[in-house]
Parts: sequence; structure tokens; C-alpha cells
Amino acid sequence: MDLIQEGKVKRVLQDPDSAERVIIEFTDAVTAGDGAKKEEFSGKGNVATEMSHYLFGYLEGKGIDTHYVKKLSSNQLLCKKVTIFPVEVVCRNIAAGSFCRRYGTEKGTPFPEPLVEFFLKDDEYHDPLITADAIIRLGLAKRDELEFMKSVTLSTNYYLGEILKQRELILVDFKLEFGKTKKELIVLADELSPDSMRIWDSNTTSMDKDVFREDKGDLIGAYNKVFEEIKKAKPQDVEQRTESIQVIVEPKSGIKNPPGEVTKKALGRLGFAEVEEVRVGKVFVITLKRPLTTEILNHLAIMNLKLLSNPISETNKVRIE
Ligand code: UDP
Repeated sequence: MDLIQEGKVKRVLQDPDSAERVIIEFTDAVTAGDGAKKEEFSGKGNVATEMSHYLFGYLEGKGIDTHYVKKLSSNQLLCKKVTIFPVEVVCRNIAAGSFCRRYGTEKGTPFPEPLVEFFLKDDEYHDPLITADAIIRLGLAKRDELEFMKSVTLSTNYYLGEILKQRELILVDFKLEFGKTKKELIVLADELSPDSMRIWDSNTTSMDKDVFREDKGDLIGAYNKVFEEIKKAKPQDVEQRTESIQVIVEPKSGIKNPPGEVTKKALGRLGFAEVEEVRVGKVFVITLKRPLTTEILNHLAIMNLKLLSNPISETNKVRIE
């Protein structure tokens, strides 16, 4: 099998049976601090494979598109071949790790709402925090793609958080990667294991890679314990998360817009002389029954053309937030 890529803890191999599939092979390596600290733990590849297999399947069942196809062996997953966006998407519920180092926040401080951050995947520059605008300016992803990834990250946070909560485990933070398939679908990729998540038990004891980062004991024992607990949870009891998106329809500039003209005159009478033009459009707030997928966005584009807007006189944009 041809090696496509060798990472710090995984290998990506070409599936000999399909050009559009890859085999992800998990090794027993564990790394921290940009690979500065590295060790082998027997059984780690297995538990990361099993947990990724289980959690990707769970998320797919809840309507999230992933690259996962099936488990091939105790350390190999068959996945769709994707082009990975060079950004890591981190979601935090509680302050820990680099967030505390950056802002001096006390570890364990809960956030009123989940926080989504982007990091540039670049070892040479130590994966720096990056803004959405910088990602767009660098041409690494488009704005709507980032909004989409953020939305899927928040859905993932909800679904992972709920299943862990059933077993009195706390999802502190996690990192996701996304990729684009040949058919231009954006899907959740990479892996899902305590290698890329912080999970605490009810006493705030780490059950994840922090055990290794901070030399706190039995890493594989912690990973296996988390997996045992996840398997005892009941995915069917996790309620479906709905999601709201907005379609904003604006009359094009230069096209007659009588309500806008009336509003402009009224504003002028009230003394707002600085108003040059007012165009009155409309906003559709659409609540979806399930997490956003590229397919739903494509449906929305068709809905837009057929019903929500008139492409000759109006522009429309979709806001996912
Ligand atoms: N994370 C990861 N890979 C990375 C960086 C972070 O899987 O290259 C995960 C990490 O395990 C944690 C979350 O993303 O669950 C947030 O990590 P943070 O930014 O706090 O960095 P850390 O201090 O963990 O390196």
C-alpha cells in the first residue's frame, strides 16, 4: 500500500481498492509540545482506532458528515479521501491549556458559551492562533466554509458533550480537522480520541493526553476508561440539536426599491440627513432539524433561487450562526 502521509501518530495509506478512499493507520505513539515529548504506549493505537470508529459512527447517526467509512482492523480505519484544510478548529467549554497560557485565565474557568478558535496547521510556526479574516486573506478557506466548520464544530461539541455527560464526564475542549471530498463536500476528518480532547471526570481528574503531558499516571488506563464509559452511554437518549441559519435577501443597488425610498424620506424628515440610500430587504430565519451538511447548503441554494429571492433584482447570502 502506498504511503500518502506520515504524521506524528498516524499514517495515511492509499486504499488499493479505490482511488477515493484512504486507510488511516493509528500507531502507538503519543506526542506533546509539537513532538518535543514523544513516547510509545502499547495499545494506544487500538483505543484511538476503536474510539474514532465509535464516535464517528455516533456523529454520523446524528447527521454530521464525516470522512469515516468503516473499521478495517484493530488499528486501521477506511475513510474517504479528502483534502484537509490547513486549520485546526478548537472548541472550548472550560478554560485550559493554551487558552490559560495566552490570557492568564485560571484553569477550570467555565465559559458562558462554547468558544471556537482556529489555529494554523504549521509546525515551523508552532500552530499559531489565527483569525478567520487571516485564513481568508491567505486563501486557506472561504468565509462560508469557515462558518460551516464552526457550525459543525458546535454540533459536535453538543453531541460529544451530551454523551460524556451521561457518564458524568466533562468535555473541556477538543480539536477537529475538516476536509473536502472530491465531490466538494466538507466533512469532519482526522480522529476522535482523548489524544485531541480534554475530558475530566467529576473530580476534574484528566482522562486524556494531559495524563502524558503532565506525567500524571496511566495514560492507556485513562483512555480505556473513557471508552468504556462512552460505550455505556445511550446515544438514543441524546436529543437532536436544531440549528438556525439566516438567509438575507437584499435588493440590488440601483434597482428601484419604493419601501427603501419611503424610509429614506422619513429618516430625512427626522433629521438624519447623512443617509444616502436605504434598501429594504428580508431575512428568513430557518431552523433545521439536524446539523448542517454541504448537502443542506446546496438545497438551500436551490430554495433561494426557487422561492426566497429573485436573482435578477436581489442578492442573497446565507449566515450560519
Ligand atoms: N489539540 C490537538 N492537537 C493540537 C493542538 C491541540 O489535538 O495540535 C487539542 C488538545 O488536546 C486540547 C485542545 O485541542 O484538547 C485545545 O488545545 P490547546 O490549544 O489548549 O493546546 P495544548 O495546550 O493542549 O497544546
